[in-house]
Amino acid sequence: MERSDPADSNFLLFSLIAQELIAIIFAFYSFRQGEIALAIFYMSAASVLSAALGVFYIYQRHDVARFLLASTLVVGFFFLLIGTSDETSLMWCLTIVPVLVDAFGNRQSLFLLSAVFAVSIWILTSDAVPFITRQYDDIMIMRFLSSYAILAIFSVAMDNPLFNSLKNYKILSSKVQEIAHRDILTNLPNRHSMEGRLKLKYQQYQLIKSLFSVVLADLDNFKLINDRYGHDVGDNIIQTTGQLLNSELRGEDTVGRWSGNQFILLLSNASEEETVKIAERLRVKIANLEIEVQGDQLSLSISMGVASVEKYSGLDDLIPCAENGVYQAKHMGRNMVIVA
Ligand code: GH3
Ligand code: MG
Repeated sequence: MERSDPADSNFLLFSLIAQELIAIIFAFYSFRQGEIALAIFYMSAASVLSAALGVFYIYQRHDVARFLLASTLVVGFFFLLIGTSDETSLMWCLTIVPVLVDAFGNRQSLFLLSAVFAVSIWILTSDAVPFITRQYDDIMIMRFLSSYAILAIFSVAMDNPLFNSLKNYKILSSKVQEIAHRDILTNLPNRHSMEGRLKLKYQQYQLIKSLFSVVLADLDNFKLINDRYGHDVGDNIIQTTGQLLNSELRGEDTVGRWSGNQFILLLSNASEEETVKIAERLRVKIANLEIEVQGDQLSLSISMGVASVEKYSGLDDLIPCAENGVYQAKHMGRNMVIVA
């Protein structure tokens, strides 16, 4: 399951910040104790976690942030296991188990935890492991491995929806979120969702100056189609247009339904000039569509307004300018792309 609902994202963020703080505190403590190698190790972990936080916030790549968190935790686990720290090392190893389960979900973490368990048995029981600095007696090893197994089984079970009402709530809330952000007719992101994405893009632009542009696209004389062929045909045309726009965009771009017969395109890393080219290509595609309705050959056209963030001081200016572009296109005869 894609763990991208807000509750999981919040927990991921919480885990990243908590692990980062722990790494910094341990680095500081190790430095004070004169254990410089250990301090460097913890600082490196803190740096990877800072990068993960950056990826989480700036690029919204929760999957990459989760991977960096898991890598840091697994490396930290084995680092502690080979005994570079004091006799509390094994106890610290155990604290990593539930965090991994919650970050990855029960299925993926089951494989990860099993692999970590197998490698742990090898490290603790084999004489041929390099770098090992601490030897534990057999009773300690048995206690550690059984605690690990019990904790792993319980963590995985508790993360399973069958056992966990919080988990059920998370799944339900992610479905509600999905519905709240989708347009029912076109299955594209709805206006509410696009407004959120626009805000996010604008924040990214302010942080790292990654350009983006918007295109507002409004079908021409749509009312005539409704009046002549009926509302259901009008609905089908809105769907077809949405699908065409969506299929023509690059992976990093998004199209959403803005209102009745109006769509909004959010183009990442696109200057005004590039956006006009993309919009023009889409306009031609729509004009070339051949739709047969009730024995008639129907042709469509669309008017588009382009606004690129580089020219404007805020989101409040950007959308009205794109709307102005559509307005001008309508007045100049429709079926055109205008930069307002
Ligand atoms: P213009 O070229 O100026 O855009 O003319 P237009 O007729 O397309 O006018 P406008 O963009 O204002 O669109 C209004 C029409 O869109 C009237 C309304 O019935 C129709 N419409 C809005 N939402 C829907 C919908 O969900 N389904 C259908 N079938 N029609 C819709
Ligand atoms: Mg229209």
